[in-house]
Amino acid sequence: MTTLRKDVVVVGGGPSGLSAAWQLRHLDILVLEQRDRLGGRLKSSPRGDYWLNYGGHLFPGAGSNMHDLTQQLGLEVIEIPGLKTAMSFAGKVYKSKRVEAYPFLLPMTLRERFDLVKVGTTLMATVARWQRVAKERPGERPSARRERIAAFRAGETFRDLLGRPSRRVDEIFQSAARRAAAEPEQQSAGVGVALFGAVWSGKKDNTALNLHGGSGMFAAAMARELGDRVQLGATVTLVEETADGVHVVYRVGDAEHEVLADQVVVAVPAHFARTMVRDIPADVDEALRVPQYGSWVGMTMLTDEPGPMPYDDIYAMTTPDRTFDMFFNHANPVQGPGRRAPGGSLMCYAGGATATRLLQLSDEEITELYQREIFELFPALRGHIVESHIQRWTIGGTYRSVGDASFEPVLRYAAEPAHRIRFAGDYFAPLGQMEVAVTAGKDAAEAVIRDRAGAHQRRFGSVKPR
Ligand SMILES: Cc1cc2nc3c(=O)[nH]c(=O)nc-3n(C[C@H](O)[C@H](O)[C@H](O)COP(=O)(O)OP(=O)(O)OC[C@H]3O[C@@H](n4cnc5c(N)ncnc54)[C@H](O)[C@@H]3O)c2cc1C
Repeated sequence: MTTLRKDVVVVGGGPSGLSAAWQLRHLDILVLEQRDRLGGRLKSSPRGDYWLNYGGHLFPGAGSNMHDLTQQLGLEVIEIPGLKTAMSFAGKVYKSKRVEAYPFLLPMTLRERFDLVKVGTTLMATVARWQRVAKERPGERPSARRERIAAFRAGETFRDLLGRPSRRVDEIFQSAARRAAAEPEQQSAGVGVALFGAVWSGKKDNTALNLHGGSGMFAAAMARELGDRVQLGATVTLVEETADGVHVVYRVGDAEHEVLADQVVVAVPAHFARTMVRDIPADVDEALRVPQYGSWVGMTMLTDEPGPMPYDDIYAMTTPDRTFDMFFNHANPVQGPGRRAPGGSLMCYAGGATATRLLQLSDEEITELYQREIFELFPALRGHIVESHIQRWTIGGTYRSVGDASFEPVLRYAAEPAHRIRFAGDYFAPLGQMEVAVTAGKDAAEAVIRDRAGAHQRRFGSVKPR
């Protein structure tokens, strides 16, 4: 067994681990990632002017930590001109920028229209309240804001908030709710409201951008910058604090390795963190059980149509009348008006209970099902799918359910000084998103830097910069 010595080991090469590694890049660090690539649930592959997208793709705008990171890495973020609120209903595509218009646009019975207005109005009022709660307050600690957001409507399910509208209306909200990889019955009302809040962000919408070239550019840039400080194919099995430092045991192929680090940032999904880290304080360990994880089953497609398609002005469409819940046109940001090049890139996915069902099927069966339903909506696409891949995200999205114990001990622990093992991940908020992951990674790295300065001061009586 080989033993290395490092200042900091980062476990996990997803957005949270990479964000931590970036902040700590001036130190002697090692990033251990079990997959053969960086990026975690951000994944794409280039295809000429387009890219195939498999995972996260909507990047937060200026003012976010993720945006700062993309700028520091020299990456190009692009606006998405297409509609993000399209909907397929009863086999037809409807395009409205204003979701409030749908009760009048969709072919519905009077009862259904009434239900859609009623649920929609309740949801909008709750989203407005959530937006007020989520707003940063001058001088407050980030953890206080996090706790406030986490507490919002945490004691009831999203189903409680939606009630039981008529079937086709319910299907609209179910599809939208599965963007949290869970059914309305499984997720808290706070999670469901945060999902809608993210889409109905109001005013100028710079909250959802794309990375030019695909979200995989983020991992590619990090791989370039971090170089041999990243070890791929390294599965960490143990993180244990000892008198000498923190021991990290990992496997590469059949070989077991060990690193001794001053500090470790564990940036993997919460339940993995619990199993690999030894002797976690009991309340923190209990709180790491709180984040729930749900699946998504996606299909990504490269197309070769010679000219315009009926979805050219759409970026995202909710599809309550399909097996999949969402449909994305990933070529939209690079196909502005008047520059419609041939071909394109599409993606669709199902979450929650549908994803759990689909995971039992073969890739061929899912492809057959998804493509048949896409062709029903867009017959012009028939014969133009040149590449198609199924992506199974068994750990797709993280969310909170009702009745869970409090997550607060993890947040408190994260804010405390002098821990040698720190946690980070998108599970730090009730609804997992890349911004949550990157912020948690950055916070963990800053705590590491503070701890190092504190340790230096205790030893030498002066503060060493960074
Ligand atoms: C289909 C899909 C669509 C999404 N859309 C969006 C979106 O539009 N906008 C948005 O903000 N978010 C989106 N997300 C969510 C976003 O991708 C995640 O919030 C983000 O990737 C979480 O980052 P993370 O670093 O916390 O976890 P991850 O990305 O899961 O990274 C964790 C890493 O740890 C590694 N790891 C796990 N165990 C070990 C081990 N034992 N040893 C070593 N390494 C280990 C994993 O391989 C992984 O690379 C989407 C996700 C999916 C799947």
